[in-house]
Amino acid sequence: MIYLDNAATTRLTEPVLEVMLPFLTSEYANPSAAYGSARRAGSAVERAREQCAALIAAEPGEIVFTGSGTESDNWVLRSALLLTGKRRIVTTKIEHHAILRCCEQLEREGAVVTYLDPDPEGIVSPESVREALTDDTALVSVMTANNEIGSIQPIREIGGICRERGVLFHTDAVQAYGHIPLDVGEMNVDFLSASAHKLHGPKGAGLLYIRKGIALPPLLFGGAQEEGRRAGTSNTAGIAGFGKAAEIAGEGMAENTVRITALRDSLVRRILTQIPGSSLNGHPVKRLPGNVNVSFAGISGSELLTLLDGQGICASTGAACSSSSGKPSHVLTAVGKSRTRANGAIRLSLSDETTREEVDAAFRALKESVSALSMLN
Ligand SMILES: *Cc1c(COP(=O)(O)O)cnc(C)c1O
Repeated sequence: MIYLDNAATTRLTEPVLEVMLPFLTSEYANPSAAYGSARRAGSAVERAREQCAALIAAEPGEIVFTGSGTESDNWVLRSALLLTGKRRIVTTKIEHHAILRCCEQLEREGAVVTYLDPDPEGIVSPESVREALTDDTALVSVMTANNEIGSIQPIREIGGICRERGVLFHTDAVQAYGHIPLDVGEMNVDFLSASAHKLHGPKGAGLLYIRKGIALPPLLFGGAQEEGRRAGTSNTAGIAGFGKAAEIAGEGMAENTVRITALRDSLVRRILTQIPGSSLNGHPVKRLPGNVNVSFAGISGSELLTLLDGQGICASTGAACSSSSGKPSHVLTAVGKSRTRANGAIRLSLSDETTREEVDAAFRALKESVSALSMLN
């Protein structure tokens, strides 16, 4: 199998599993309890908090563990309205469904949402954010990097504008965390979402960075875990694994970025020069190291995926969640691609584990499959 769907989820690596195993076996105590094994579980959670904070230059006390990136996104959107007593959220048309579907629900509950357009390369302009800000704006939420086309947003500039205007700013960094350098101070963000399973950690462990001094109302009520900010018995193994994954991602980032970017660029170059009718979606440079998103004229992306699957290659038409709905991607539509170009798109997402041989084999399979499908048309 050649796994090129790392934007959907990643392989849980051995060092991460090793850190998790004791908490799935012998060290099963509830970290909130008052005996030795519980204290060991509790220390593992606090160690992970330090590791996860260090990756974004935050303080450990600013990290709250949640059950997923989706939960972190939902929490901040809903609770920013409560915290400020204001009714507007400013976001973009290319956010993940964890943001967009939640915004739609909040609209049904009376909130007002402004959805900003990106430019044709998938970049949201800071000026468009400035123009959208109103006195009733509770929160601006702009993703750090897009999950379908990989475009990296000018977060620091957008954050600067929000700060200047006294508006809270959140970024969904689920695709970026552990993949590109992030510093919450430099980014001018108040809130940041991340998820363990996008950086070789376990599924079901997320975090929300909350800048010190902001008392974000809880989403879940119950026990006093996470200093009363997020109720529910701590997922000790998941959190410990998240911490280890964050540590490993930080250590390897500089080297991985260089290697993965080179692999990505060579794949893109070969596709564009050797496969007729191909075009790149997203920004050529301001994109995640591992993201390739290409359209093939006159070809169905989902038919192409089926052919690739037959050759043991795992890829995607875009968001894992929307590939089954048959609708053209909301991201490709928002960046102005025609319905046919959106339907002819596939995403190949590389990781630090992807080899040159795998990329070469995937390219050959892609070229043959596109040619086979073109002949049928
Ligand atoms: C995967 C993803 C999410 C959802 O995270 P989960 O932990 O899977 O709920 C949110 N936003 C983006 C950009 C993502 O890529």
